[in-house]
Amino acid sequence: MSEVHFVGAGPGAVDLITLRGKMLLERADVIIYTGSLVNPLLLELAKKTCVTHNSAYLTLDAVIRLMEEAVARGFEVVRLHTGDPSLYGAIREQLDRLNRLGISWDICPGVSSFCAAAAVLGVELTLPAVSQSVIITRYEGRTGVPAAESLTSLAVHGATMVFFLSIGMVDTMREDLISSGNYSADTPAAIVYKATWAEQKVLRGTVGTLSEMARSSGIKKTALVLVGNVLGDDYDLSRLYAPDFSTEYRQGILPQGGQDTAKEGA
Ligand code: SAH
Repeated sequence: MSEVHFVGAGPGAVDLITLRGKMLLERADVIIYTGSLVNPLLLELAKKTCVTHNSAYLTLDAVIRLMEEAVARGFEVVRLHTGDPSLYGAIREQLDRLNRLGISWDICPGVSSFCAAAAVLGVELTLPAVSQSVIITRYEGRTGVPAAESLTSLAVHGATMVFFLSIGMVDTMREDLISSGNYSADTPAAIVYKATWAEQKVLRGTVGTLSEMARSSGIKKTALVLVGNVLGDDYDLSRLYAPDFSTEYRQGILPQGGQDTAKEGA
């Protein structure tokens, strides 16, 4: 068993943490949680003697010091991050510091907010003939984005895009998306605020209406922006479930005259 467990809390709803994550929270002696985003109700899973710290008030040094002190006393530590820790979780710097200190750690994945947003919207992010890729990114703000990953570069693909940490910048995002030529003012877009929380808000519109959606709803943080034609109505049926498609598990029946060209939508 490792000394420090990095645990994905999931997007918000308390029952969207994994069984493993729940078990680790129940066993922890010390929990350091990302207070700005983690649902505080999750801390109720902790035992009475567990000490909790909100990392929103701490520096990296302070977080590591807390971990080091707890481990030295033989305590089990949980570092609770929102969604899945591997996305915008700033875990790498913690892992490297723990490695240098010889403290063992492991990571328990979580349901990322982008999966929760897709669920709430009731969409499949990868639709045949529409987009088979999801670009997870952020718009450049106080944290820089490598030039090769600027929105204008990524927009070349016309793929499904999910923007984290960018709700305050939808005006310029909209301009960049449209000027790329691969998205238009009519491309479907959505804003999902606090997916799976009681305060959840879901706004559907287009790239052209993104600014208005953000402004009129007053959403300023904890939201994702999703863009792409997967949010629209047109797509091809999957090959996997097509009657003429053979797989390891199922023998397809070939229609007379060749390929199935099933289409759905308008
Ligand atoms: N590791 C997290 C992301 C952390 S970065 C994950 O996998 O989801 C924080 C950003 O994530 C927020 O600014 C927002 O863009 C997004 N976010 C986190 N929780 C969210 C939620 N419940 N609904 C919508 N967006 C969320």
